[in-house]
Amino acid sequence: MANKCSFCGETGADGRRIYPNDDGTAAICSYCIDMAYAAIHGSEGQNEAIQNQNKEIDFEAIKPKALMEVLNRYVIGQERAKKIFSVGVYNHYKRIFRQTDAKGDDTEISKSNILLIGPTGSGKTLMAQTLAKFLDVPIAISDATSLTEAGYVGEDVENILTRLLQAADGDVEKAQRGIVFVDEIDKIARMSENRSITRDVSGEGVQQALLKIIEGSVVNIPPKGGRKHPNQDFIQIDTTNILFVCGGAFDGLNEIINRRIGQNVLGFNQTKRSKKESLNLLNMVEADDLVHYGIIPELIGRLHVVATLNEIDEKAMVRILTEPKNAILKQYQKLFAIDGANLKFDDDALREVASLAIKRKTGARGLRSIIEEIMIDIMFDLPELKGYDVIISKEVVDGVSKPILVKQNLTA
Ligand code: ADP
Repeated sequence: MANKCSFCGETGADGRRIYPNDDGTAAICSYCIDMAYAAIHGSEGQNEAIQNQNKEIDFEAIKPKALMEVLNRYVIGQERAKKIFSVGVYNHYKRIFRQTDAKGDDTEISKSNILLIGPTGSGKTLMAQTLAKFLDVPIAISDATSLTEAGYVGEDVENILTRLLQAADGDVEKAQRGIVFVDEIDKIARMSENRSITRDVSGEGVQQALLKIIEGSVVNIPPKGGRKHPNQDFIQIDTTNILFVCGGAFDGLNEIINRRIGQNVLGFNQTKRSKKESLNLLNMVEADDLVHYGIIPELIGRLHVVATLNEIDEKAMVRILTEPKNAILKQYQKLFAIDGANLKFDDDALREVASLAIKRKTGARGLRSIIEEIMIDIMFDLPELKGYDVIISKEVVDGVSKPILVKQNLTA
């Protein structure tokens, strides 16, 4: 029985469907069918085929390795977090789409949502966005700090679901298997005696409100968002199959872990731990540490899968600039190529951009604005640079010199 596409050799591990012929001697995948359709119907057909490619996702065929492969194309480093995330997402959709096993056992698999712990700009949102796009499920991204308990000034928790419904173009079914990303969950920790930072006392109330939607229930949401009021039409959303991913930097969490582990270390004064050691500490996070931090135990109980992400170092910053499928540099190079010019960044220049981003303390998020600042004057002149190599040196990044222009040797 042919279980891979006879045209492209794909096995369907990436979610595409494989259709065998009647006697099982050959097969074709959904992608090749689309391409054949496009070949017959021309460019219009091709656009349609490309649009349909994602919609052909066969959730039952998805494997953690395929999810990891997709993440690898966009997310640099964070290997362990990517692996944990892939397995978490795989289990989630397996739970939705494969409730009964081959023997007919219908033991209910409980919902496990995901907690991502890592500094700002380290790829937490990016991981969730990347897989949502690949799986063609809607995603809503919210900031926990903007949420409040019902009745207080701020946004009701239900608005997260309104946003998800909007991302699903109003399709309730689609929204019900979407992804909700709640960022800055650490900022709604309740105050505890261990922490000196004053914070919003309503934090715990917001956590309770979040818990209600995360644990799986039918929630009435105002279709247009905003505050709930009587005489309003509501749409019911069942959150049982929505995957909740919470993210946060959890500053100071490593001290809590250190204190817990430290209790088991006898004697010696502990010297200050290196960055690497404190990262390893974060990997040892346990539910109790998060309770100490101020997250209510019931909420932690709903976030079974915990992954930690590292701070992005200079080397990783350079890779982020150049390697992902949609890397900033690749995008600029494409803009140049369209105008018949060639953009080159010296290695020194790339490292300088990376070190500037590190100084801004916004993680890899800072890279784009740094590059944009450097490029603005050059982009202004770009239409006149046809046939040139434009070389960006470290001095250009530092603003002390202009890019070097080299006429391309077109005969070579
Ligand atoms: P956060 O961890 O705060 O959620 P994001 O995932 O939103 O950070 O990252 C912000 C931006 O920085 C992303 O859109 C992406 O361009 C870049 N980025 C951050 N981390 C990575 C990474 N590990 N690999 C590639 N790009 C990254």
